[in-house]
Amino acid sequence: MRIVALTFHDVIADGERAETDDDRFYRLATREFEQLLAHLRRLGYHTASSRAFRAWQRGAGTLPDRTVVLTFDDGYASHFEVVAPLLMRYRFSGTFFVPVDRIGQPGSLTWEHLHRLVFLGMEIGSHGASHRPLTALSGAQLDEELTRSKSVLEAHLGVPIRALAAPGGFWNQRVAEAVRRAGYEVAWVSTIGTNGSETHPMALRRVVVRQPFSVERLVAMVEGWQPAFWWAANQQRLIRLLKRTLGAYRYEQLKRKLVPNA
Ligand SMILES: [Zn+2]
Repeated sequence: MRIVALTFHDVIADGERAETDDDRFYRLATREFEQLLAHLRRLGYHTASSRAFRAWQRGAGTLPDRTVVLTFDDGYASHFEVVAPLLMRYRFSGTFFVPVDRIGQPGSLTWEHLHRLVFLGMEIGSHGASHRPLTALSGAQLDEELTRSKSVLEAHLGVPIRALAAPGGFWNQRVAEAVRRAGYEVAWVSTIGTNGSETHPMALRRVVVRQPFSVERLVAMVEGWQPAFWWAANQQRLIRLLKRTLGAYRYEQLKRKLVPNA
């Protein structure tokens, strides 16, 4: 069995304008997010938390045939206000990766939100502390980010924090070792692909949901349809190439042209 994990960022109420334009490439409208949940429900999908996925991977638990892992990065307030009620309505659950230094900042989740998410059966994971790329940190900085984010979440929420998602998807062997040393059981990265029992728990793959949004393409990927992965992997490669060749500024301008209404 192959399991696909999806990564979401901000989900904004329909008709609402977000405060910043920084990450509109990754932002979904509520109607888009709900459309996807409705599709998955119609197809008979169940959701697994990071913890349930890992239990299955270790042979310590079973998962229904059609299982998807839904993950939410960056600790947006919308994850409590918009995402959680929709997940409950469709009887789905999610894993929320929070950069701890952002908790309580404007537009971000508060401790009250996080307590309630735990109460609703959602899993909380670390997304580092400062959201800096882990690969850019010195050994001491890296250990500090990993242990502080874990212990602060555990102290406030009273639950073990087992999973980490890499900020920006930046990942290497050195970081993977440090994450394991800090006591995490799994790490989710942004490499496109599916996960099986053989996938390394310190490099679990995720499909980042981005604009232009296509529910058909996402469902094709969740269903494990290989051409959709091929397309997405090439899109990811193309984005990297464009960023390198055009430079960040011209890349942003091009993105704006390609995604006019996002
Ligand atoms: Zn992030």
